[in-house]
Order: sequence, then C-alpha cells, then structure tokens
Amino acid sequence: MSSKTSHAPDRADPGLANPGPVNDAAITVENLSKRYEIHHQRASGEGLRHVFESAIRAPIRWLRSRRNALGPGNEAFWALRDVSFALKPGDFVTHIDHGVGKFAGLETIDVNGKPQEAVRPPWDGGWIWKKDEQGNPWMSVACQGLGASVWYPCKDHQSDEPDNGASLSITIDSSLVAVGNGRLKEKKSNDGTATWTWEVKDPINNYNIIPYIGKYVTWHEDYNGEKGNLDCDYWVLDYDLEKAKKQFTQVDDMLKCFEYWMGPYPFHEDGYKLVETPHLGMEHQSAVAYGNKFMNGYLGRDLSGSGWGNNWDYIIVHESGHEWFANNITSNDIADMWIHEGITDYSETLFVQCKSGKDAANAYTQGLRRTIRNDKPIIGPYGVNQEGSGDMYNKGNNIMHMVRQVIDNDSTFRNILRGLNETFYHKTVDSKDIENYIIKRSGKDLSKLFDQYLRTTQVPALEYKIEGEKLLYRWTNCISGFNMPVKLANPDQWLSPGTDWKETRLTAAMKNDFQVDNNFYITVKKVE
Ligand SMILES: [Zn+2]
Repeated sequence: MSSKTSHAPDRADPGLANPGPVNDAAITVENLSKRYEIHHQRASGEGLRHVFESAIRAPIRWLRSRRNALGPGNEAFWALRDVSFALKPGDFVTHIDHGVGKFAGLETIDVNGKPQEAVRPPWDGGWIWKKDEQGNPWMSVACQGLGASVWYPCKDHQSDEPDNGASLSITIDSSLVAVGNGRLKEKKSNDGTATWTWEVKDPINNYNIIPYIGKYVTWHEDYNGEKGNLDCDYWVLDYDLEKAKKQFTQVDDMLKCFEYWMGPYPFHEDGYKLVETPHLGMEHQSAVAYGNKFMNGYLGRDLSGSGWGNNWDYIIVHESGHEWFANNITSNDIADMWIHEGITDYSETLFVQCKSGKDAANAYTQGLRRTIRNDKPIIGPYGVNQEGSGDMYNKGNNIMHMVRQVIDNDSTFRNILRGLNETFYHKTVDSKDIENYIIKRSGKDLSKLFDQYLRTTQVPALEYKIEGEKLLYRWTNCISGFNMPVKLANPDQWLSPGTDWKETRLTAAMKNDFQVDNNFYITVKKVE
C-alpha cells in the first residue's frame, strides 16, 4: 500500500501565533494509492489471515477479473490508483467515523499547556531555554527521536514529508533575532516585538523544522558549488563572531569534499546555514545546529583515537553530512536509521581522506571500531518506532568501508554514493532500497554482507589452516551462506571464503606472515 498526501496550509504555525480560521485553505491529495496483495495459504486454516481475506474480498469480488497474477495462488489488485483531488471549503466529504458532511476548511488551532523542556538536548526532545554568557535569552528546540509533535501539532512520522516545504513564523522581543530553516521571507516589526518568517521550499523532515532565538549576528558567503552559487549564511552569538569566522572556514573544504563524493548539495534552493546552539548539534535541514564551541574534534576529542579525528570540526562535518543522508535521503522507519547515521558517519571518513589522504581515512574507520558494542542489531524492529543499536554510527561506517573494499574501485563507489543521492533525491526509503541499489550498481553480491552486519551482532571469523602445500579457509560465526570476499594484506591477493572449507595453493608469504587487510571488520583465527 502506498499513499502520499500533501497538506498545503497558508502557514505552518507552531502554535505561538494568534489562533484563527484560515478561510480559503484547501487540502490537496496527490497520487493516493491503495494496493492489496492476497497470499493464499489455505492450509493455515481459519486464522486471522483468512478472516482478513474474507473481509477484504467480499465487497470487491468484481475487481478480481482485473487481478494481476503474483504467482500461483496469489493475487494483487489496486483498490485506488494515483487518485488526486483537492478539497475546498463547501465540498462534501465522508468521514470514516462521523459520516457525510461538508468540509469547512482548515483552521489554525491554539495549542495550550506547558511546553516540554528538553532535559539533555539533543539526546532528548523539547524546548531548550538557556541564557548566553551575557545573560541574554538563547532558545531553540531539539526533537529528533521524540518527534516534532513535542512542540507543534503534526503528522509525526518520518515516512511523509511536506512536498512543498514549510514556513515558520517566530514572534519575539525586538531586541532578539529569530532564525529558522531555509530563507528569511519577511521580518515584520510589531509593537516591541518582531515576527520573523522563514521558508523552506524543499521537502523537510518535520523534526528538522526548528526555531533559533538569541542575540545572533550573521554574515554571508558564496560557495561555488556543482549547481552554481550556493548561499552560505552563518548565525552566531554576537560575542562569538571572530571565533566563528575562523572556525567556519572549514565549511568550504567540507562542501568541496562532500559534493565530490556524494553529489551536489541537495537543498540549493534553501541555501546552507550554520546556526550556533546551546546544545552540541543536529542536522536541521538548511539550518544546521552547531554547538561544538568552535573546537576541532568532538568537543575537542578524537572519537576514533587514531589521531585523524582532531584536526577538523566534528559537528560541521557530521551534521552537514546529514544533508545528504538523513535530509535528502530519509528512512521511512527509524528502525532503518543506519541510513542516516552510518552513511553520514562514513562521510567523516571521506572527509578525512579529502584532508589527509586514504591511509588516514582507513585508520580513522579502523579506530572507530573501539566503540562498537554489538549489543543488538543495527536495524531495529519495524513498525514500532524503535531504533536499532547505537552501533548504527561506527559499525555502520565500517559496513560502508567494507562495501567499498569489496567493490574495490573508488570511482564506482563514488558513483554509487552520488547515484543514491540522485535516485532517491528528496525521497524516503527503506534499508532494502539502499542495499539493492548498491548491489545493482556495483554488480557485487553484497546481500549477505548487509544481512550479517546490519541484522546480526556476530563479527565473522576467518578461520584458516595450513595443510602441506595448501591454505584452507572458511567463514565461521556468521549467517548461513555468508560469502564476503576478503583481501589479504600479505600476500596481496583476494580470498572468496564460504562457510565450507576452501583451499588455495600455499605461498611462502602465506606461510611466513599471513595477514588480512585490516580494512575488514572481522576476526582472524588460525586453527590446527
Ligand atoms: Zn548524526
């Protein structure tokens, strides 16, 4: 079943402005579809499936003549297909609970109650009420995970984004500055207050729609990007201006590297922004939250321990990397959030490579392994709003790194990253969409690699033994059929192990100093 709805109110009101009717508002629905597949399994008896089947099939038996064959005994049909309509005030509607009536138009509603405050942002959600070092109000919101409905009414699900963007109007004391996503459309002065209206034209995750309020100052820079001139705007607290101007020169290097590896900056229409925040950071689309205190590393630390993570600003790089993976390509279900965090984590490795070369990049990824816990699978349970393991970050990075090793051709790997951003431009996807795309474009059978590392916690072991003039090898501690090819560091050659023993001719190098390429996240075990 697929459905796509688009609501186009006159304004996305966070509930802070005055309530009132929005008289001429309409709802438009585009490409609404509903498709059923019925899989016959009569042997299972009169179970829930049978009841469900009967209920669906009875009123629509006439549709069966149009059914498509799905294979022996199965059928599929569309109950609705690409239906589009617009609803205007006065139109008749049927409400599933309340029967027939007239659509009266959209209404702006007043949201009452106590706003929820975030206790530990950005890791929990809600409003952040802080003061800057000079005692001025400094406010924002963080709501990834908990969801945007913590502070404004919305359809709180990652799988659906407003197709035509959103706008945000923030009314504050006129001594303060309000920043939002996208571009400043209007600033209106009222009596002692000012209303700042910001507008995003591109689709946006609703957890990314965020107000920032404080004593901000700004400056602008042009970046000569793949789609032409990209507007880069920076908003920082007045007393941090000099530090920020120095630190944010890293944005040029980041954009150059990321456009090279992942394709054009995906929100050209809305521009690129960094906004200083009281919390560490978040990937708020076209208004990235920055709270790394103008230090390199992750608040000064190198997460990889390799020495290659502390000569660049982690938050500028990581949160901006999300513009490609999280904001451009969004997972439908947070169970698949490794698409956001794992691939963005790998953008850090790519940045290290742009800055310090490929050996440094390899060392960075290898260093990140020290944080992997293998406590539970990276992909969480579907349909229950639950993330998988925190390993989605650094193990996710290592998965992408191994995919790159197996592809063994950096120009193909780069074309895949760019192709993903082109094919799934401004779309929501499942992990399988990403996996299948990589498999198809690379021509490599990576399905077991993905299953092993995304869906189990086992770290495969390469077992080997020497028998006379032969080297025997196989995978253990892995799923059935695990078949990842692996490269040796000494001698320089590939092995294609399966879960049964295979053999190859033993060379002197193997005999004296058998070594596996450390770019593979595996264990190696010599057995007798
Ligand atoms: Zn992230």
